[in-house]
Amino acid sequence: MRDLAQMEVPFLDLRAQHLSLEVELTAAFQRVLRDAVFVGGPELDRFESEFAAYCDVTEAVAVSSGTDALRLAYLAFGVKAGDEVITVPNTFIATTEAMSQAGGRVKFVDVDPSTLLMDPSQLEAAIGPRTVGVVPVHLFGTPADMNAIVKVARKHGLWVIEDAAQAQGARYRGARCGGLGDGAAFSFYPGKNLGACGEAGAVTSNDRARLSSVRKLRDHGQNQKYFHDCEGYNARLDSLQAAFLRIKLRRLDEWNEARRRAASLYRERLKLLSDVAVVEAPRDTSPIHHLFVVRVPRREAVMAELRKRGVGTGMHYPVPLHLQKAYGHLGLGAGAYPVAEQAAREILSLPIYPSISVDQIDYVCESLTRYFAGC
Ligand SMILES: *Cc1c(COP(=O)(O)O)cnc(C)c1O
Repeated sequence: MRDLAQMEVPFLDLRAQHLSLEVELTAAFQRVLRDAVFVGGPELDRFESEFAAYCDVTEAVAVSSGTDALRLAYLAFGVKAGDEVITVPNTFIATTEAMSQAGGRVKFVDVDPSTLLMDPSQLEAAIGPRTVGVVPVHLFGTPADMNAIVKVARKHGLWVIEDAAQAQGARYRGARCGGLGDGAAFSFYPGKNLGACGEAGAVTSNDRARLSSVRKLRDHGQNQKYFHDCEGYNARLDSLQAAFLRIKLRRLDEWNEARRRAASLYRERLKLLSDVAVVEAPRDTSPIHHLFVVRVPRREAVMAELRKRGVGTGMHYPVPLHLQKAYGHLGLGAGAYPVAEQAAREILSLPIYPSISVDQIDYVCESLTRYFAGC
């Protein structure tokens, strides 16, 4: 084991990414400023077609955030009062918040203990007479078992919308996330693998009719200015963010590859440390490592020790949604989803980003080794 001197390993480092793109991003800013088209326009149209091509889908509709992408997707697929939608309890609240806001009711299904993704074998039992759809979450950038999920959904006449907020570019059996179900919602929040310099999101699908609803809903229910077919939202994406995203999209594969190298280095270095269990991705997936998650005993103490040594960490997520105050009205107590609950106590997200260095990864692993070896 190398003895590395104290160093800083932030949990996330967005500066490196933007420094390397500063000239291009600044030029894009100038271009948008001079064209003075700030909402819609050519940058937006081009981003939508480039992102659709990237995801291998017929169309993408860019919106103002991942949360709006989810909400408008649910609405476009017809969620209405009393409809039940099934997802997992170990996700960011946006997945379910958007369901309730669309008028739906949230229903959970537990996750697989090895991947922490939706457990297809439990899905059928969660389906009830009011269930209309299923929302698997590609958490950590790892695709959920879509073939199994879609098979159950088809049998019961349900739609499937992927929460692909953490999975831009991830593949499942060779196919990109975004086209694996009936529709998908992406987030381009700055910290995501493809992140804007502000808020942004998109809905992708091969179903043009649903996407034309999303298009209408994002712009006050109008296709033609001041002719409103329905009430909608202001959920449009700024041209400036679209211009930035176009530049970053060209780097995404390279960035995801750098994250893969970092993840395999972590796995290699942590292999012999029996107290640290890496949450693995299924063999038939090509994950993009939005997060690198391990399970450890005494998690809070480990985090504190790493913090002392200059290493930032995270928890995704510390409290499963069914145990949040916000969902107290569902009356689901502790024990309802034991796999997700156990994971919430043990999971620890280690620093990962394209620019993380071998020394930084070594340092994080050395810090963990020291802690568990008691030296
Ligand atoms: C980030 C995220 C969202 C929400 O996206 P925003 O762009 O922040 O609104 C939804 N679901 C998951 C799983 C996410 O990680």
